Amino acid sequence: MAEVLVYVDHVDGAVRKPTLELLTLARRIGEPVAVALGSGAEATAATLAEHGAVKVLTADAPEFADYLVVPKVDALQAAYEATSPAAVLVPSSAEGKEIAARLAVRIGSGIITDAIDLEAGDEGPVATQSVFAAAFTTKSRVSKGTPVITVKPNSAPVEAAPAAGAVEALAVTFGSAATGTKIVSRTPRESTGRPELTEAAIVVSGGRGVNGAENFSVIEALADSLGAAVGASRAAVDAGWYPHSNQVGQTGKSVSPQLYIASGISGAIQHRAGMQTSKTIVAINKDAEAPIFDLVDYGVVGDLFEVVPQLTEEIKTR
Ligand code: FAD
Repeated sequence: MAEVLVYVDHVDGAVRKPTLELLTLARRIGEPVAVALGSGAEATAATLAEHGAVKVLTADAPEFADYLVVPKVDALQAAYEATSPAAVLVPSSAEGKEIAARLAVRIGSGIITDAIDLEAGDEGPVATQSVFAAAFTTKSRVSKGTPVITVKPNSAPVEAAPAAGAVEALAVTFGSAATGTKIVSRTPRESTGRPELTEAAIVVSGGRGVNGAENFSVIEALADSLGAAVGASRAAVDAGWYPHSNQVGQTGKSVSPQLYIASGISGAIQHRAGMQTSKTIVAINKDAEAPIFDLVDYGVVGDLFEVVPQLTEEIKTR
């Protein structure tokens, strides 16, 4: 069976969920070989093996320490050359997409970004994408070189599938570009304790209807009762009520959670572009004619300042 390279996103050895989802998809098209880089790379092996990695290629070097992309591309290219895989899968984070694009250029391959599903095909893996503000679903295949495919978080279930997970050291020769840039300072964002927006299983978003930065506490309370991330429409972000890092939509982040709750959001096409692939969509809006109601699974016509606190209280009692 052909090997499929899976780029591992981890924090000091703790594998992030989107990588485990990639392993589920990789097993549909071949044998997953994971590539884990940087501090804690070897500590990822047990988790990766539990989820189907037949082999884990690891490398650690000072070059990986500074969140720079080029050294990681050097390493992924070394893994590619060592394995001749049928495909390379990378999580669709901002960093993942840059790594994938640079690798695809280097190895002369086509790339598919933001896939939401993957299946085996007669002429190579077939990726599903949601395009044109989620108005269409397309199926595509890379016709040149080894397919490099980035996959959006929450696109596949995490499945236990014990495999060998043999750890092998990956020899990497860094190019001059790997050391050509240096990070001079880094300020970590204050943690909210909530899950990362693009990876969260539940997202609760607020829009112009929230009517002020201080009122976002209503949205945050519902999010916290559900263990959810908080999102915002561009109208709320442009008004300065919530940070741009939480914006959902065409010019914000793209999310695909199990549950998306939109409060005081009209459902403009640019907002839909970032959330329409959510599995279950709930909207709370006082205007029964709001376009968001065209795409919801459940809609509540009502004032969010009455509905959301009631919902929060009800959830807390469960
Ligand atoms: P509105 O459209 O004003 O809707 C507010 C809603 O709140 C209304 O439906 C109203 O009935 C309801 N409401 C008001 N009060 C209450 C209440 N008390 N209780 C319940 N409901 C209430 N938008 C994004 O979101 N993300 C993007 O990434 C994005 N990118 C864009 C890119 C471009 C190039 C352009 C041109 C636009 C983009 N937009 C984006 C903006 C988009 O077109 C909309 O303007 C925006 O999404 C509207 O945000 P909203 O739904 O919060 O506000």
